[in-house]
Amino acid sequence: MTELHQKYELVIGLEVHAQLSTKSKLFCGDSASYGGDPNTHISPITLAYPGTLPKLNKQAVEFAIRMGLACNSAISPVNWFARKHYFYPDLPKGYQTSQHINNICQGGGVKIVSAGQERVVALHHIHLEEDAGKSIHDAHPLKTAIDHNRAGVPLIEIVSEPDLFSAEEAYAYVTEIRKLVRFLGICDGNMEEGSLRCDANISIRPRGDKKLGTRVEVKNLNSIRNVKRAIEYEAERMMEMAEKGEPIIQQTRSFDADKGTTFALRSKEEANDYRYFPDPDLPPFVVTPENLERIKSAMPELPDAVQQRFMQQYQLPAYDARLLSDEKDLVDYFEAVLAGIKEYKSVANWLLGPVKGWLNENNLPFDKFPLPPSQLARLVELVASGKISFSSASSRLLPRFLETPDADPAELAATLNLLQNAGSGEIEQWVAEVLGKMPDKVAEYKKGKKGLIGLFMGEVKKISKGKADPKMTTTLLEQKLNEQ
Ligand code: ADP
Ligand code: MG
Repeated sequence: MTELHQKYELVIGLEVHAQLSTKSKLFCGDSASYGGDPNTHISPITLAYPGTLPKLNKQAVEFAIRMGLACNSAISPVNWFARKHYFYPDLPKGYQTSQHINNICQGGGVKIVSAGQERVVALHHIHLEEDAGKSIHDAHPLKTAIDHNRAGVPLIEIVSEPDLFSAEEAYAYVTEIRKLVRFLGICDGNMEEGSLRCDANISIRPRGDKKLGTRVEVKNLNSIRNVKRAIEYEAERMMEMAEKGEPIIQQTRSFDADKGTTFALRSKEEANDYRYFPDPDLPPFVVTPENLERIKSAMPELPDAVQQRFMQQYQLPAYDARLLSDEKDLVDYFEAVLAGIKEYKSVANWLLGPVKGWLNENNLPFDKFPLPPSQLARLVELVASGKISFSSASSRLLPRFLETPDADPAELAATLNLLQNAGSGEIEQWVAEVLGKMPDKVAEYKKGKKGLIGLFMGEVKKISKGKADPKMTTTLLEQKLNEQ
């Protein structure tokens, strides 16, 4: 910890927007899917034509409640929407329909692990709102183009208390939220496409002080790494200002990812007055106890529960079970492989070893792994049956298999001459040859230096060019050594 960090404490509160993966928008039937040709997911309701009326999407409400339940928040039984007014060209109605004062989920927390410590970060609330459209500044040299496809897409905003105290904690927190929304099936968690967006509120105070310092809010954080970078930069900037005796003013700033710095967008004096009031076009909506029960009983399995189940159902060690339950895609893939083969531990080893290794090397997320689960099952099967060793399969067969994911792995192994297809007769000859070459070592073995079996194995492997099945080789070596 630097000297400045010893003197000042960093305090962070995050506002995370998650785009809900409903089929249609929050208040009309227009498609809520990402992309599409500009202005194709728009109806008169999205465009706010006079006389149109909104109708609430129940699925979006259910998704928001799922997130609240996963975070142990209290779910409000009676809810209403408010109009949040501001003018912007990509906001067709001139206001955003959001929640104000009365939010669907209150309190609760998100469990994080940072620097080896587990802790629950307190949430202030989670509310439902609609997204705005998109202003496109680079389509025309002098004009700004507007795409309204995103206008009206449902979002939840997850607002934390000022309860994060380092850039690492903020990183862990957003990572955990992304994991949760993916397990809950309510958001794809894709930060590059903007399905998960984060604003960071940052302040500093002398260590030991209870009072919060003046905060700045940094917007435009489009990756978890950038959340961390922006906070690190702001922390330094604010601490240096405090050292120089310069006052910190409340500001909204933007992060420049290329430079790794932030710059001021506007300060408090220019802040909007949103003129909130309850939306008269939307009646309050009620979450009945029956509905809440139904949503609770249909909650998807969360990572902790998956880990426990993997330990019991597949007898996996806690370590493997934890790593496998870390990502929703990995969980689904693992279980899909198991539909074809029951070698639980081998499949876990493959996924956590060579598969993860390949993905890391290529810097790819799990859903970009080229092999379908049934094909990985065939590969694991090939090793389990002794036809090919794990080391040739992972280091030589796998790279080729990934280039031709539809191939038959056994045929591919044969083409690459990797099959341990030697019969026992052939192996016997190699065993005899190796032992014949090393009479001294054989004598030492017989005197009790049993570790030499490894040396003999290595020699057989060498002269057989890897075609001798290790199990059979061991058996034959032991037979031979005991009879001499
Ligand atoms: P606003 O409505 O202006 O965005 P809120 O009071 O709702 O402000 O706070 C928004 C976020 O800012 C919350 O996550 C909150 O925890 C955080 N926050 C508020 N004050 C501070 C502060 N002094 N330092 C760090 N974070 C703060
Ligand atoms: Mg804010």
